[in-house]
Amino acid sequence: MAKILTITNQKGGVGKTTTCVNLAASLAATKKRVLMIDLDPQGNATMGSGVDKHELEYSAYEVLTDQCEVTQAVLTGLPVGYDVIGSNGDLTAAEVELLQLPRREFRMKKALLNIADQYDFILIDNPPSLNLLTVNALAASSGVIIPMQCEYYALEGISALIGTIDKINKRLNPELRIEGILRTMFDPRMSLTKDVSNHLVEYFGDKVYRTVIPRNVRLAEAPSHGLPALLYDKNSRGSVAYLALAGELIRKTNKASTEASVPEQTE
Ligand code: ADP
Ligand code: MG
Repeated sequence: MAKILTITNQKGGVGKTTTCVNLAASLAATKKRVLMIDLDPQGNATMGSGVDKHELEYSAYEVLTDQCEVTQAVLTGLPVGYDVIGSNGDLTAAEVELLQLPRREFRMKKALLNIADQYDFILIDNPPSLNLLTVNALAASSGVIIPMQCEYYALEGISALIGTIDKINKRLNPELRIEGILRTMFDPRMSLTKDVSNHLVEYFGDKVYRTVIPRNVRLAEAPSHGLPALLYDKNSRGSVAYLALAGELIRKTNKASTEASVPEQTE
């Protein structure tokens, strides 16, 4: 069964989409079977994976509103090396339409049940808000990756996000936990960056990934070519950092499953 991870932070511009696309490409480069789902109506992760959001026959919108089978929306055989369920502006309507539908928080979870065994990882990109789309992603996932820019306002809003994750954990999805906090656009020359980074580690402990994503122009350029940085400039610092993140995620996942399979000691 795939490990399903939501990439979220209600702040915009913190590196959610960049992380989703580049982590998907890095996991695929290590021969993992990956599905990337774009749940942001802006469709940046779709375009950044080389898929034209205006040409989608079926998208995340049709999946969430039961207008197609999930398998019809999955794009396979793409040059990026991972599969994609794309999105575009249609998804804005889903936020409203979902309100009328039964089990509105569980539509993504239900759809993924049919295909989760075909993947090792499913990564879900999210809009910069905590709406019903994000709730669908969180209800379907076992873990949350929170990208954070180490700037003065980084921690603002984080308690609202943690509160939401807690609520979903109690009411909708007992499996859900924070998978990791990712420091993005890191610039070690700025002392403020280091201060905020230290705060994050104090606050979240080993939930903070050791891998740090540097500010790197290749990561910003690659999407305009419809490519993850790894396929645009594989030796760039950004590509190397996301490969390291994939390695860290895989090691953590393997370790957790080994620990889970060791029988508990009884007295
Ligand atoms: P979000 O999805 O959270 O809104 P994005 O991933 O779209 O954030 O990133 C916001 C902007 O910053 C984009 O233009 C992206 O190309 C750029 N960006 C993201 N991460 C980096 C990085 N590590 N170095 C340089 N630019 C980055
Ligand atoms: Mg985004």
